[in-house]
Amino acid sequence: MIKIKNLTKIYKSKKSTDCVALDNININLPDTGMVFVIGKSGSGKSTLLNLIGGLDTITSGSINIDGNEVGNMKSKDFDAYRSSYLTFVFQDYRLLENLSVYQNIEVGLDINNSVDHDVIKKSLKKVGLEGYEKRYPYELSGGQQQRVAIARALARDSKLILADEPTGNLDFNTSRQILAILKEVSKEKLVIIVSHNLMDTDIYADRIIELYDGKILSDKVKRGNYYNSFKIEEDKIILPHYYDLNNVQKDKMLEAIKSNNVKEVIQNDNGFSDYEYIDEQDKNIEFASKKAKNRSLFKIFKMFLKKRIHNRLIMIVFSILLFTVLSVLQSFIMYEPTMNNVETDDKFYVLQKCDSMPLEDTLRSGKIYSIDDKELDGFKNIDSNAKFYKVNNYHIPVTRNAQALHMLTSPLYYYMNYYTVSTIGTLVCDEEFVADNFFDSGKVEVICGDLYDKPYGVVITDYVADSILNYKKYGSYEDLLGYYIHSNHKYAYINAIIKTDYKEKYGQLTTLFDGIEEEESFYKLYNENKLVQDFVDDCDKKYNIGYSFNPNFKEEALKADLYKGTYLGNAEFVSGEYKFNSLDTYSGIAVYDENAMNKKVEVERGQIIMSYTFYNKLFGTMYSSTNYDLSVNNTVTLKLNNYIDGKKVTVYSKEFEIIKIDGYTYFDSEDYYEIDSHQKADYLLYVQNTDKAKDIINYGNNHSFYLKTSDFESGLVINKMTSTFNVLFTAILVCIYGVFGMYIIIYGINTVKANKEEIGIYKALGGKFGNIAKVLFIDVMLTGLTISVLSLIFTPFIIRVCDGIIVDSFKNVLKLGAVNIEIIKIYPKILALNYSLLNLLILISAIVPTILLIRLKPIEIIKN
Ligand code: ADP
Ligand code: MG
Repeated sequence: MIKIKNLTKIYKSKKSTDCVALDNININLPDTGMVFVIGKSGSGKSTLLNLIGGLDTITSGSINIDGNEVGNMKSKDFDAYRSSYLTFVFQDYRLLENLSVYQNIEVGLDINNSVDHDVIKKSLKKVGLEGYEKRYPYELSGGQQQRVAIARALARDSKLILADEPTGNLDFNTSRQILAILKEVSKEKLVIIVSHNLMDTDIYADRIIELYDGKILSDKVKRGNYYNSFKIEEDKIILPHYYDLNNVQKDKMLEAIKSNNVKEVIQNDNGFSDYEYIDEQDKNIEFASKKAKNRSLFKIFKMFLKKRIHNRLIMIVFSILLFTVLSVLQSFIMYEPTMNNVETDDKFYVLQKCDSMPLEDTLRSGKIYSIDDKELDGFKNIDSNAKFYKVNNYHIPVTRNAQALHMLTSPLYYYMNYYTVSTIGTLVCDEEFVADNFFDSGKVEVICGDLYDKPYGVVITDYVADSILNYKKYGSYEDLLGYYIHSNHKYAYINAIIKTDYKEKYGQLTTLFDGIEEEESFYKLYNENKLVQDFVDDCDKKYNIGYSFNPNFKEEALKADLYKGTYLGNAEFVSGEYKFNSLDTYSGIAVYDENAMNKKVEVERGQIIMSYTFYNKLFGTMYSSTNYDLSVNNTVTLKLNNYIDGKKVTVYSKEFEIIKIDGYTYFDSEDYYEIDSHQKADYLLYVQNTDKAKDIINYGNNHSFYLKTSDFESGLVINKMTSTFNVLFTAILVCIYGVFGMYIIIYGINTVKANKEEIGIYKALGGKFGNIAKVLFIDVMLTGLTISVLSLIFTPFIIRVCDGIIVDSFKNVLKLGAVNIEIIKIYPKILALNYSLLNLLILISAIVPTILLIRLKPIEIIKN
């Protein structure tokens, strides 16, 4: 029993005037029968039906159903009402597309927790669809789909069936079939149909309510004794309403007229007369609200899953990708460029003091400075157990290139040939050190000579000796002993030659070096061949070095009659605001040369003959040795710099008068000795037996020391490079977070949008909002979980691959040698942070659409 009193529905509009869809309507409806609601389009029919069905809220008045006020129920009670009392049949059927016929009916029942296989079968039989259980809606005709919708209503055993133009999409015959079924159903239930087909109404209606502009125009009920047929009664002909006579009837009628008995012809009306209001006793039936079984939820979940399978896959793949990129970038940014990240198994390290990092800029730019005792103490404080040895720059040139090459800070330049061009200096240590580190036998093996012959003498290795012999300056090892003479100068005094394992270890490399003339091809060989890298490393530390076991070697060597002034490596020429470093060019290196004396070049103390290369560099001129003008610039100050207490200071400075321009630079010999004594420096530090290697290297880094061990050297360069990428990567990271967050939220919203119809149908069937929210939530969270789990599997793998790629590309671009370094690694904290963020985002993406959903009325969901 439905009692509608003073029902008004106004659609509020922000843009135009409000629309009064229903205006003060009063209707009473019985428990059974077929009620048609008719009227022009826009007269309020659907509105009325939706309000009765609880799909929308009323503006004023009341709708009382079996004693329950349903006009403005809470959402929860609406659900209970819809699920237990009524079923909708829509014009466009509104079946759940991804469910079979059987499942469609089952979901309707499950909402009410009353799934019963027999009931489903029976209801399908009633609508003539026996055996169609496994078909899907898209495999059925419109009429068949509508019959499924009716079967759904029948199976639910609802007391009320609301059908909004259920035959609107169907042809004449199919419409009639549907209406016949509904008519049958209406014997036990109340069926309210919105229709615009007046012929149908006359045939099937028990009651016709006509609306006009939201008001009731007429409310008619079919008379109980109405029988619509053609009849001839004595003097009366009764004509039927709305259908044509057949030939037999026509003949009978003509006969009757001919017989002249007919006094009256009556036209039957449609059999309806005005409804008279009967106030019946109110019933009081409570709507039962039962929990849906999770079985149905699972079906709906499956439906959701099926619907956006491609989007979901894309979402998962995209998220994993983004997530991985995120982790890689974060890991890169997290990388702390300290030596702790670089691995090596070297037993000792060589540190060099210089301006700029070796290999960093051009290979020639690094100036080398001496190590002072304070700094040495600093190192000793870090690891008192370690042994420190200095290497000073007394060295033995092997080829003519040696003097120029000597200044190069890259050790690689010494080894572009299998044989060296120059030793890297003289290591002042004790015999034990050499024996311990370079000889398996534990003692130094002397090939020839006496280790302690002269206090200023050096011990060279067979590698250096072979290099000298290779360049054919001497005939045999014995010839090398005593004063080492090269380019007419006595460079050193050779005490002895010791044996090393260089031939056994690296002899096989000889042919590899053949034909290498250019830097490029040497680097290629170096980078690709681990043995070459080891060779260079061993040369730097063992083979290509002179040894002295005399702690006072430096003083003795300075006093000895040895060649001085091989180069002015750290010399800086200054004149006014002009400055020029002697390292900035290959040619014209300042020398004091006996040859020059032979040429009778006259230069006095305080004077300088300058190489035109130097002069032009200094003053920006383009002079040659035969064409110059000294009237404008004829003085220059020579400065030598060094680091003292971590600060760069000028240790020597003297002004010279430029008297001539020539191919080389000459000083008076006294001046030269003075300059040169300031240049003799301990410029390499050997660190041995340290268990705090990385601390020592980090300390060195902070005091302008750089490593000469290839592992660490490359590590240092990479360390420096990484920090330059941090800003860029941070920016990308923030963008990715933004994109990811937005994407995932949009995904959540789209999931709701894509399933809007299903959600609407589920709601219209009385499904609880909470259940849909649950399904949505589980759906999105499961997707998130999939992403998390897959990422967890993939990320470490990809991080490893990326690390390899990044380290390799650094090595290639920067032409680095062997390095054992890990830039990108797995930081558990970062991963944990990412997963928290990911899950938070997913949670938001599940909650946002759920909130959107709460705010929607079922009618809005369905209408869209
Ligand atoms: P019918 O089903 O008889 O064609 P409706 O009940 O759908 O008519 O609509 C009745 C009136 O209410 C119409 O003027 C229509 O424009 C208006 N109307 C229906 N739904 C809405 C809505 N959601 N918002 C605003 N106006 C609406
Ligand atoms: Mg309508």
